[in-house]
Amino acid sequence: MKKFIYFFNEGNKTMRDLLGGKGANLAEMTNIGLPVPGGFTITTDACSEFYNHGQNIWKELKEEILLNIEKLERETGKTFGYGENPLLVSVRSGAAVSMPGMMDTVLNLGLNDETVESLSKIINNERAAWDSYRRFIQMFGDVVKEVPKYKFDIVMDKIKEEKNIKTDLELTTEDLKEIVKRYKKLYTMEIGEHFPTEPLNQLLDAVKAVFSSWNNSRAKIYRELNEIRGIKGTAVNVQSMVFGNMGETSGTGVAFTRNPSTGKKEIFGEYLMNAQGEDVVAGIRTPKKIASLEETMPDIYKEFLNICNILETHYKDMQDMEFTIERGKFYMLQTRNGKRTSKAAVQIAVNMVEEKLITKKEAILRIDPKNIEQLLHKNFSIEGLKNSKVIAEGLAASPGAASGQVCFDCEALKKVKKGILVRIETSPEDIEGMNIAEGILTIRGGMTSHAAVVARGMGKCCVSGCSEISINEEKREFETRNIIVKEGDLISIDGSSGKVYLGDIEKTDIELSGAFEKFISWVDETRRLKIRMNADTPKDCKVGLKFGAEGIGLCRTEHMFFAEEKIWSVREMIVSNTPKEIKQAIDKIYPFQKKDFFEIFEVMGGKPVTVRLLDPPLHEFLPKTENEIKKLSELMNIDIENIKERLESLHEVNPMLGHRGCRLGITYPELYEMQVKAIITAALEVKDTGIEVNPEIMIPLVGSQEELDYLRNRIEKVIENIFKSKNKKLSYKLGTMIEVPRACVVADKIAEKADFFSFGTNDLTQITFGFSRDDAAKFIKEYAEKGIFENDPFVKLDQEGVGELMKMAIKKARSIKKNIKLGICGEHGGEPSSVEFCNKIGLDYVSCSPYRLLIAKIAAAQGEIKETK
Ligand code: ADP
Ligand code: MG
Ligand code: MG
Repeated sequence: MKKFIYFFNEGNKTMRDLLGGKGANLAEMTNIGLPVPGGFTITTDACSEFYNHGQNIWKELKEEILLNIEKLERETGKTFGYGENPLLVSVRSGAAVSMPGMMDTVLNLGLNDETVESLSKIINNERAAWDSYRRFIQMFGDVVKEVPKYKFDIVMDKIKEEKNIKTDLELTTEDLKEIVKRYKKLYTMEIGEHFPTEPLNQLLDAVKAVFSSWNNSRAKIYRELNEIRGIKGTAVNVQSMVFGNMGETSGTGVAFTRNPSTGKKEIFGEYLMNAQGEDVVAGIRTPKKIASLEETMPDIYKEFLNICNILETHYKDMQDMEFTIERGKFYMLQTRNGKRTSKAAVQIAVNMVEEKLITKKEAILRIDPKNIEQLLHKNFSIEGLKNSKVIAEGLAASPGAASGQVCFDCEALKKVKKGILVRIETSPEDIEGMNIAEGILTIRGGMTSHAAVVARGMGKCCVSGCSEISINEEKREFETRNIIVKEGDLISIDGSSGKVYLGDIEKTDIELSGAFEKFISWVDETRRLKIRMNADTPKDCKVGLKFGAEGIGLCRTEHMFFAEEKIWSVREMIVSNTPKEIKQAIDKIYPFQKKDFFEIFEVMGGKPVTVRLLDPPLHEFLPKTENEIKKLSELMNIDIENIKERLESLHEVNPMLGHRGCRLGITYPELYEMQVKAIITAALEVKDTGIEVNPEIMIPLVGSQEELDYLRNRIEKVIENIFKSKNKKLSYKLGTMIEVPRACVVADKIAEKADFFSFGTNDLTQITFGFSRDDAAKFIKEYAEKGIFENDPFVKLDQEGVGELMKMAIKKARSIKKNIKLGICGEHGGEPSSVEFCNKIGLDYVSCSPYRLLIAKIAAAQGEIKETK
C-alpha cells in the first residue's frame, strides 16, 4: 500500500516535493538532532488523492492518520483527546513552494471540555488553559470552518463591555469560560452542528480544510501571479504542541541567521515572552530584539546561537527560523532559506565564500540576475509605497522609480523641473522628451515597443501598455479608474512593477558595496560569453563601460537622426525625388554622422563597435502634422501639395515588412555609402589621435546572399576610395544581422560574404511567429492567460522555434567559416534564460542595453557553470 504519511524522522530536506518545504525541513532538523517537537507530515500526494476522492478523506488515509497519532502518543507519553496528560497538536499547511493564501495554522488542536481541565493542571495555570481553549475554538471556526473572525470578536467585545474592561489580559478565568460557552453557541448557529469534541474529528476536519485551501481563490491567484506551476498540492504537518505561554520562562519568536536587508552576519529577529503562535507578528504586544535574549536567558541564547550555526553549516544558506521556549526549554518549529534584498543576497553570498561555506560557483548560481536590476535603479521606499494609491497598472517595461509632473509632450517637459512623459505611444520624435523626462508612461505597446526599448537603453524608468488610462489631448488630462489627472499633476511610476501612483513617493538611493565588486569579478572570471552593449550615444557608452561593456554590439544609426536638427535633413532625403535632391540632403547629414561616430570611437577606444546602417521603416521619420509638412516644404522649397503627394506615395500598408533594412540601402545606396564614409573617416581620424579603433559595419535585414553581396561591393569600393585618397588604412569588419528566417536557412551562403553575424532576435521573433511587434501586446497577454504561451516570446527567447533557427544558422555559418564571429543584439541579450541559451548554442557575445550588462554577465556565468557541470 502506498505510504501517505511520514514521521519527521523518516523524511529529509530533499523530499520537498513530497513533504512540502516546511515538512521537509522539520524532518531534516529532527534528523540532525535539533529539538523539534515530534510529529508527522501527510504528503502532497495525499493532497492529489484527496481531490481524486471528491475532496474527501478516504478510509485508508484515515487509518494511516490514526496509526501515526498513536505513534505520536507513544513517543510523547501523552494521550489524544483524554487523560491527565493530553496530546495537543498544531496543524500546519506547507507546499513545496511557500505560498501565502493557503490555510493558516491551527494551534492547540485536541482541546475539549475534558482536556482543558487536564491542561490547566499540567501547566498549573487555569486561565492560560481556558485562554488556549477559546483561541482554539476561534481558530478552528475561522480557519477550518470559515466562520468570519469578526463574529467571534463581537462575542468577546460584548463580554468586555458587560464586565466593563478594556484589554484581553484583564479577562478572568470565569470570563474565558463564559466566552468558550458563547463561542460554541456561535459555532453551532453558524455551522448547524456542535463544535467537535472528539479530537480525531477535529483533526480530520482540519486536514480536509488544509487540502481544500490548496484550491481556494487566494491560493490560485497567488500561484498565477507568481507563475508557480507543476506542483502537486500542499502537505499537512501535524505536530505536538509546545507552549510559549507558560509564564516568564516561556516565549516564542522569529529570527534570521543574518540580516536580511543588509546581509550583515548577525542574528536578526524578535521574540515575546509568555506568548504563543503568531503573537510576535500580530502586533498585540511589542516584541523584543533577539539580542536582549542574551541578558534574560543567557543559556537559551547560547543554545540558539549554536543552532543557528548548525543550520547554516548544514543548509549553507541564511535561515529564517521560528522557535518557541517552553519553561526554559528551546524548540525549533521551522527553518527555511530566508528571503532577502538583492543587496543582502550579494553580501551573504560573498561572505559565505570567504567563510568557506560555499564555492564561488555556488555563490554565482545563488544570485537571481533579474534582481540585480534592483541594485542599479532607484526604488520607492517601502514606507512611501504604503501611503500611496495605485491608479493604473501596465507593463514593467524598464525598471526604476520615477516621480514627476504629468507632461504630454516635450514642450511641457521643458517647462517643469521633473516630468513624466505620458504618451499613447512614443515615436522617434519623442526621443528628446524621453531624454529629459524622469520616466515614461505609455498607453499602448508591449515590452519591445519603441518606448520600452529606448527607455531601457537610456536606463530610464518606463511603464508601457497601460491601457487602463485614456488620454484626452484636448483637455490635456488623462482618466483612469474614475480619476482625472491633469497635465502638471504629480504622479509616480514603478518600472519594476508596472504600477502607476498618484503623487510623489520617496525613493531609496543606489549603493553598490565592495562585496558587489568582488562578486562581479568572480562572474567575469567564470563566464565565456563576451558582453557588449547596445548604445547609440557617447553618454550611453560611458554608462556601459562603467558596467564593464566589452564593446558595442549594436549602435543604431537612426537614433542619431532623431535629434531636432538632423531629422529635417533625413526628411528631406526621404521625400527627395531626384538624385540631386537626395545628394543635397545626404551631404547635410554627413557631418553630423561623422561627428557622432568620432565621439563614439573615441570613448570606446579600441573595443569593437558594431554600427548598424540605417534600418527602420521610413514612415517613422516622416512629418505628421500640418506644421511639420509646411516647414519641410519651406526647407526644400517645394510646394505643400507636392510634398503631400510624395508623402502619400511613401505610405506603406505594412511598414514592419516594408521598405526598411538593407532594402533602404539597395534603393538609396547613396545613404549607406554616406554612412560608411562617415564611419570609416571618423575611425581614421580617431586613429590619428593615437586611439585604437575597431569598427564593424553591420547590414540589417538581409535575407539572401545577393543582397549582402550587392551592398558589400558598393561599401568596399567606398572604403577603398577613402583609403586611397587619404593614403591610410585600418582594419574593419563587414557583417550582417540575421533577423529574417530565410537568412537562417541560407546562413552558409550569407556567411561567405560576412565577417560576422548578429542575431536580431526582435525581428527574428516577429517574422518567425508572424506577430507584429507593434500589435502583439494586445493578444499575447491572452495567450499567456489561456496557457498557450508560458512566456512572451519577445521577452524570453522562444528556444524551441526561434532558437532552433539560430542553431541552424550557426551550424551552417561555421561549416563555411569556422571562426565567424557570432552574437546577438536583440532585447533577449539582456534576459537571463535567453543569455544562458546563447551561451549553450555557442555564440561569442551577447549585446544588451547598458543597464542590463550586469544581468547578462551573471546569466552568462551561470550558463557556463551549468554547461560545465
Ligand atoms: P506559517 O507558515 O504562517 O509560518 P506555521 O505553520 O509556521 O505558519 O505556524 C505559525 C506559528 O504557529 C509558528 O511560528 C509557531 O509560533 C506556531 N506553532 C506552529 N506549530 C506549533 C507547535 N507545534 N507548537 C507551538 N507553536 C506552534
Ligand atoms: Mg502565518
Ligand atoms: Mg511559520
